[in-house]
Amino acid sequence: MKKFSGRRFFDFLISGILLLSCGDVLTSCSRGAKAESISFTAMNTYMTVKSYGKTAKEAAAANALVQQEVERLEGILSTTIQGSDVYKINNSDEEEIPVNAETAYLIRRGTEFFKLTGGAFNPALYPLIREWGFTTGEYKVPNSDRISELLNYTDFSAVVECPQSGRIETTAGNTTVSRPAGLQLDFGAIGKGYAGDRAVEILREAGISSALLDFGGNIQVLGSKQDGSAWTVGIKNPWSGNPVVAVKLRDACMITSGGYERFFTGDDGKKYIHIFDSSTGYPVENDLESVTIICREGLSGDALSTSLFAMGLEKSIDFWQTSPRDFDFVIITKKRGLVYTKPLSNSISLLFDFDSIRVVE
Ligand code: AMP
Ligand code: MG
Repeated sequence: MKKFSGRRFFDFLISGILLLSCGDVLTSCSRGAKAESISFTAMNTYMTVKSYGKTAKEAAAANALVQQEVERLEGILSTTIQGSDVYKINNSDEEEIPVNAETAYLIRRGTEFFKLTGGAFNPALYPLIREWGFTTGEYKVPNSDRISELLNYTDFSAVVECPQSGRIETTAGNTTVSRPAGLQLDFGAIGKGYAGDRAVEILREAGISSALLDFGGNIQVLGSKQDGSAWTVGIKNPWSGNPVVAVKLRDACMITSGGYERFFTGDDGKKYIHIFDSSTGYPVENDLESVTIICREGLSGDALSTSLFAMGLEKSIDFWQTSPRDFDFVIITKKRGLVYTKPLSNSISLLFDFDSIRVVE
């Protein structure tokens, strides 16, 4: 672990997230590669993609394909766009809803994480999330009877994908989904991670070997920087200010779930955040500010950051220690503590005076 201070390092960091050594957007880098950036809003998120191509035209064309793909996915996965698969699953009276193969894929991957996390990750909390006002911004603390009633509709394992023919990966349109009345889905905790994976795939197919994606704090990098060194990415300061930790990344994602991202203060003076405890139907209350996952796949990183936040510190540590250790985490606690997994030791730099530091082995 290295400790950085002073100006030199901050030259690499931009506004709490990133870092490029060769200047800012739309500039050419060493070895003749050209960088092009694109920014757009999709999935309720401001997204930026910066790609290095042999020519600026190649990079710009690849970026445009990424935007198209993210918008296409939003059209399938949004809870609010009428006609999206998720909208139909949530609002139609039909017993079986025809869906895209990708929706079935996310249900399958969601089921994997639902089981792996003992239900901490649950994409079927939509009725509760809506009742608390997180879908509209009209926040309220529902009464406990209402919460108990809505909890009856949150058994994600009751969602069944019914392939009518062939392999579901290749037969879009031939998959249906059935679910009990009242059950409603919300892929808010994995949609952006999955979109990032698709974006990286598209960039690769377009011949891009170096790129950096920022999907609202979900960072995914393709390859390394132009000079062959790793990207340096910052973890946001939960209390505002400069990034508190920097991590070096190559072909990886770094995805954060933070209690500061969306919350409201109830009439009782308590802070209610957007990540839910699926066993109680209440927003999670624990001593964490943020959970950052570093791993290969965006979808996994996204699912796990939400899951570990919901689990809390000790369960998260246990979860990692008994896992295949194919991911790492950086957790920031409300008591200005830092907890991270040991394999990160060589790639992490501290930029903040934490009150405690714990390295998990
Ligand atoms: P993220 O920002 O990736 O942590 O995802 C948070 C979003 O996922 C929330 O805004 C909800 O839409 C949804 N969500 C909240 N709690 C959970 C949970 N325990 N499991 C799965 N999704 C959740
Ligand atoms: Mg997530």
